[in-house]
Order: sequence, then C-alpha cells, then structure tokens
Amino acid sequence: MVSIRLGARDTGSKKQLSTEPPRQASRRTSRLTRPSAQALDAELARVITALEQGVAHRDLSAFYQTLRATHLPSIVEFYTQDPRGLSRACFNILHSIGSISPAAGVAIENHYYVLATLTTFPIHNNPEFSARRQALLQRVVQERLLLANTSFRVHEDKVATYGARARRDGDGYRVSGSGAFMSLAGEGDLLFFVVAIDGTEPAYFVTPLCNNPGIEVGPLLFPEAMVDSDTRRIAMHDHYLSGDDLLVSGKNEETSKLTSLQFAWHQALIPAPFLGAAARAIEEARKFLRTVKASNDRPLAELDGMLTDIGRMAIRYRSACCIAHQAGELIETLARRDPKPSEISDAVDLACAAKRTAAQTAEEIVAEARRIIGPRVFTGGHPLERISAEVVFAPLVGEPLAVIDRRYGRLVLGENDFTARRW
Ligand SMILES: Cc1cc2nc3c(=O)[nH]c(=O)nc-3n(C[C@H](O)[C@H](O)[C@H](O)COP(=O)(O)OP(=O)(O)OC[C@H]3O[C@@H](n4cnc5c(N)ncnc54)[C@H](O)[C@@H]3O)c2cc1C
Repeated sequence: MVSIRLGARDTGSKKQLSTEPPRQASRRTSRLTRPSAQALDAELARVITALEQGVAHRDLSAFYQTLRATHLPSIVEFYTQDPRGLSRACFNILHSIGSISPAAGVAIENHYYVLATLTTFPIHNNPEFSARRQALLQRVVQERLLLANTSFRVHEDKVATYGARARRDGDGYRVSGSGAFMSLAGEGDLLFFVVAIDGTEPAYFVTPLCNNPGIEVGPLLFPEAMVDSDTRRIAMHDHYLSGDDLLVSGKNEETSKLTSLQFAWHQALIPAPFLGAAARAIEEARKFLRTVKASNDRPLAELDGMLTDIGRMAIRYRSACCIAHQAGELIETLARRDPKPSEISDAVDLACAAKRTAAQTAEEIVAEARRIIGPRVFTGGHPLERISAEVVFAPLVGEPLAVIDRRYGRLVLGENDFTARRW
C-alpha cells in the first residue's frame, strides 16, 4: 500500500502542516489535533482491510463506517492553507482503494474531487460565496460527511444532454428533472450539483441527500459490474432549495472558472482508482510468476520474455502515474493565485490527457496480467476476476475519450505551429 504522504513536499524534519491562518478557508475548518503521516497511513491500512472484507462479503457498510472514523474523508482540511500535496494525498488514498475495488474508488473519487475543488477554488471579491464555502467545509470536516454529486446528465437521443432545470421561487429555487448518474448514492450525506436557473444561469447548490424526501434516488445504473460505485439514477420533483443551499450562481467568469476547475480535478483524480487496479494486476502477475515454475523447474519470473513483458507494463504504469501527478500539481499551483481562464484551460487539457492515458493504460495492464496468469484468474476468488470487470469502466467515467481526443485535435489543428507548444 502506498503512503498518503501528507504534505508530500514537506518531508524530513520540516513541520508537515503549516500553522499559518488558512489562505482561503478559516482556521475553524481545521481540527485541533493533526495526525502524523504514520497515523494517517495506519488509518488507510484499517480502511483497506475493511474494504477487503466488505468486498468479500458484498457489504461495504463496515468499510464506510471505518472510513468515516478516520481523517481520510476530510483530508482536504490539511490543505486549506496551502494546497500543495493535496492531489497526491487524494491520489494515494484512491489508488489504495482502487487496488481492491475500482468501483468503490470511483464512488470515493466523486467525494474527493468535489471537496478538492471547493477547497482550492480561489474566491476573489465574493464574500458571500467565501462564507458559504467555509461553512460547508467546516461542516464536512466536523461531521465527517461524504459528498455525492450529479451533473444531471441523461441518456437521450443527443449526447451531453442535461435533464434538470431550476426556477426561482421567492427567495429560493425549485429544481425538477433527473440525472442518469449519481455515485455514492447510499452513503452520500450531501449532494453537490450544478443546474441552470431558468435555462440560462448556472448555479451550484449543496443540499442534504440522505433521507431527503425531495430527492428520489433510483435503482442501480450498473447492476452487475460496478455495484460498489453505488451509481444510481436521481430525480427531483419541484425540490425546494433555500438561498442558503446556493453556493454561487451567474453566467460570469467566476462560475465558469469553477466549472473548469471541478472538471480538471475530476479528470486528474479519476485515474487514481484505475491505476490502483493496474498496480494490483502487476502485483498479482509478480506473485504468480515468482511462485509458478516453468518445465525446467525454475520460476516463470526468470524467463527473459517475462522480464521484458512486466518491465513494459511497469513503465506504462509509471508514465500514467506521472502525468496524473503532474496534472494534479498544476491544478494546485493555480489554486494559489488568481489564474487566467487560459491557465485553467491548460490544466483541463493536461488533466484530460492524464485521464485518457490512465484509462487506456489501466485496461491494457489488467488484460496483460490476466493473459500472463491465465484461466486461474476465473476459477473463483481471484482479485483480478472482479477487477477485470470493473477496470473496463476506466474510459467510461468522466469525460468520454472521443471528446478528449477531439479537444486535442482542435488544439493541434489551429493556425498556430504545433512545435511552438511547450508541453
Ligand atoms: C461508473 C460511473 C460512475 C459515474 N458517477 C457519476 C457521478 O457520480 N456523478 C455524475 O455527474 N456523473 C457520473 N458519471 C457520469 C460520467 O462522469 C460521464 O458524464 C458519463 O460517463 C458520460 O457518459 P454518457 O453515456 O453520458 O456519454 P454521452 O455524452 O451520452 O456520450 C456517449 C458516447 O458518445 C460519443 N460521444 C459523445 N460526445 C461526443 C463528441 N463530442 N464527439 C464524438 N463522440 C462523442 C462517445 O463515444 C461517448 O462515449 C458516472 C459514470 C460512470 C460510468
């Protein structure tokens, strides 16, 4: 299991957590006692053990109970003053979870990318939004809440269709419509979503999800392969939201930056659970190759072809991790100042490339490991059996690959010389 490495750049004897007042959220969002990196690693180990048992018994309730009893769900609290290291901390947690269950990793990733966005979004000259963000983060940290989200995307005869809309009602709003996807549906305490008011003005809301009569949580969207992501359909029927549920709204640069930043965080973090699956596949291949012998009674691991095959897999895995880390670190640097829209757009481009690279790499590495180990993967109880079924979702979560490819195609086929880009 990888270490969380809280405050990844603060190593050695340096103090790991700054005691300066937070730059964006107030000091009240932080708890008084801060665990050491070793204590966080121990918490992650407990969470992973609970997940292994939960997956084996097809019941993740003890896993979520264990997770909520740790600092991990609210790890963002340690990065309100300085976001450096946040993406790596989230990545490492999601990678560990994904090495057991990519599906559970997808559920938790949805929580982390929303929290990372809210924690790092630079707010300027909007005290109301700033106060709402701070109150929300404080609640999430203190009550150890989990955040689900939905974009209200629906499956109709046109791609990228949104199924909900909001209208003003006195000082509040009413939302009606549906969405095809909401992961973490049973465990999410709060729902974060964006919806257009009167069809034009984007608005970000947070509303209670658990036991909320205004929100209808539907059946599992993927009843077989991806059960542990708990992705369900969602509908709201004239659901009332007060002004306090609104985080920010308006067709302006601030909401546009928020949309881009949350998009970037999602594409940068979604690689983590699937690269965790890839790492697990390499580990399972390693165990197999070292314990099973060839006809000359020497372990298969000593065959020259196996060395090169596994070597290539490891290089691909490492390259995909590198680009995901680079994307996360670029987003962190933006959070430390007031980025230009073009800088956020560049971070989105890199995060999309990370997602695409990781998705393809993870699928291919798991397939390659399966070929190496052979049919015993499917004889019952082998971890790669379930991981094989879940890893095929790597390209399907987040932005579709075709959309990412077209985004890059447009970048390249413009008027400017491609070689002038400093990628
Ligand atoms: C396991 C899982 C969990 C998820 N959890 C959540 C969640 O919690 N919250 C949430 O909001 N969303 C969630 N999603 C949704 C996800 O983030 C994407 O929005 C969704 O997967 C996109 O799929 P779609 O079927 O809506 O794509 P569509 O937009 O319907 O596209 C379908 C296909 O059409 C093609 N296509 C689409 N657009 C273009 C284009 N511009 N050019 C060329 N081809 C194109 C692509 O091949 C694409 O795969 C989840 C998805 C999965 C798979």
